[in-house]
Amino acid sequence: MSTAPSLTYLDPFLFCGLCFGRMDNTDGTLRCPRGCSGPLDGYRLEEILWQEMGRFLSHPKARALARRRLGENLSQSEVKRLFRDLRQFVEFLPAEEKQRFVTALVEKIEIISATALKIHFRS
Ligand SMILES: [Zn+2]
Repeated sequence: MSTAPSLTYLDPFLFCGLCFGRMDNTDGTLRCPRGCSGPLDGYRLEEILWQEMGRFLSHPKARALARRRLGENLSQSEVKRLFRDLRQFVEFLPAEEKQRFVTALVEKIEIISATALKIHFRS
């Protein structure tokens, strides 16, 4: 059994940046089934995703949005604290929590390469 954290929580959000079809995720390796891109390291992509999320949440408006979507019992300072060090944050957070954040904030993720992606945040 693999000890690597699952990336399946990202599946509904992953699209090929070239043909805009869904990406195929096999044990953290991503591929466009139509052959545009891949194989790509999904874990590298996840790291960049959470860095981008951190950048997004450095804006007060984005934090207000996150608070609204994640539930009113989460204060602005709590959201700020959660995202202060995203590298650690994402390592320690269980997949269902990550899923909660991504579902709350992200509409879709277009993938061009493992290091180039375009995140469409919900507004
Ligand atoms: Zn494609």
